[in-house]
Amino acid sequence: MKKNKQQKKVLFASSEVYPFAKTGGLADVSFGLPKAMSTLFDVSIIMPMYKSIDKKRFNIKSKGISFDITLGEKTYCVEVCSTVYEGIKCYFVESKILSNKKHIYGTPENGYKDNDLRFGLFSKAVVAFIKESKNYDLLHLNDWQSALCALFVKEDKNIRTKTIFTIHNLAYQGVFSKKTLARIGLSKDYYNMDDLEFYGDVSFMKAGIAYADAITTVSPNYAREILTAEFGCGLEGFLQKHKNKLSGILNGVDTSHFSPKTDSALVQNYNAKSYAKKRVNKEAYLKERGLEDSELPLFVFIGRFTWQKGVDLFIESLRQLSKLKINIAILGDGESKYHNQIKLLSAKHKNIDIHFGYDEALSHRMYASADFLLMPSHFEPCGLNQLISMSYGVIPIVNSVGGLKDSVHPFSDYDAKQNYGYGIRFNSKEKNALLKSVKEAMELYKNKELFEEINTHNISCDFSWASSAKSYALLYNTLTKKRL
Ligand code: ADP
Repeated sequence: MKKNKQQKKVLFASSEVYPFAKTGGLADVSFGLPKAMSTLFDVSIIMPMYKSIDKKRFNIKSKGISFDITLGEKTYCVEVCSTVYEGIKCYFVESKILSNKKHIYGTPENGYKDNDLRFGLFSKAVVAFIKESKNYDLLHLNDWQSALCALFVKEDKNIRTKTIFTIHNLAYQGVFSKKTLARIGLSKDYYNMDDLEFYGDVSFMKAGIAYADAITTVSPNYAREILTAEFGCGLEGFLQKHKNKLSGILNGVDTSHFSPKTDSALVQNYNAKSYAKKRVNKEAYLKERGLEDSELPLFVFIGRFTWQKGVDLFIESLRQLSKLKINIAILGDGESKYHNQIKLLSAKHKNIDIHFGYDEALSHRMYASADFLLMPSHFEPCGLNQLISMSYGVIPIVNSVGGLKDSVHPFSDYDAKQNYGYGIRFNSKEKNALLKSVKEAMELYKNKELFEEINTHNISCDFSWASSAKSYALLYNTLTKKRL
């Protein structure tokens, strides 16, 4: 991107950024949002350097900047590397404890024991980098892994950079034992309800909420939900205290990575006008995965096998779903109890296909092949799958929570004039809700004309970052104006 001296300088800090490291939607947002903002602001990204990142492939080079960062009694040497990806300057914080592990955070069941030190170090290094660079107007923080930056910025009276903290998922808070304060070298004065203390432990998430100048979360509905006991994960009271600086802005999709028109992972590209060509993808996919009869509607589930994603509800219904005249394809990875149950069911039913693991290209082919996406999440801060699916002409079937409620409108209210996507919403608290919705989807599938009209309408809608970037720009400008 061309730099303009008048533009405000923004540093976007995240623990995962697509395509360098990704475990979920945070990575997609952490590239898509800064890229969208880069037309209005001078935006760079900063993230940890992980062992899994291919330095050669991304041309990541040392910047010749290094710091000694002290956490408690230990001092760590940190080096900053950088590259430019799709016009965006990306910085990487490299240090032994952060960069020498196989996984980003740990296994799906357990995070690494020294994640407090790893992300405490990352956060302190980001703030040291800001201080060294001197001219950042704004630091945009994301989730607990960079939340401590807000505290380190507030502690240093010489730093005038403003901070925004975005909550992508309140269920992951970075909670560690009380000893973490000493391990990181933070004053024990922080151990109280108004600061970092959380039910006898210490919460990194609380640092972002308490000390950032503004808090956002990834959908307006989730911004309301997290103020309640049902969705607040124990932080509802704390969030209510800080609610004057909280707002919800819906995520977008990075259309340069997710567009059926240009996606290089697809067998056949298509758009709303050439929607009929989508079928080529479905046929190729069924063949590839050994599923039969392309006349049957194809339902897909793509995501992490965790309670959040409603995998328990999905498994509960799967036996009955398998008896319907449909095909079901699953792509995902996660907790082994879910893994085993799904494996058993798919072995018994030839209309259920399962692919364990993380496979970006396969996920794109599934979006291009499916007729319906199943998303029975118990809670969903925003959700990207439903946005991607609608932009690929796949009707989402979603539980009516969080960003799913904001972004998927019931097809029974279909109005071609509206620029929003349509799908099927259910309430998971009602008995057999998912099964009933799948039957409703089968009826819709039989009505070829309406099915096609809704899909072509959805493909034509704008799910890009364009409108959300405007809301972030307003916030960025308001915050940085206060400095004058
Ligand atoms: P999360 O809570 O996991 O962040 P989101 O809906 O916000 O959920 O984003 C999920 C992103 O990760 C989407 O881009 C989705 O396609 C992708 N994804 C999830 N699981 C897999 C997988 N097993 N293989 C490939 N992509 C996946």
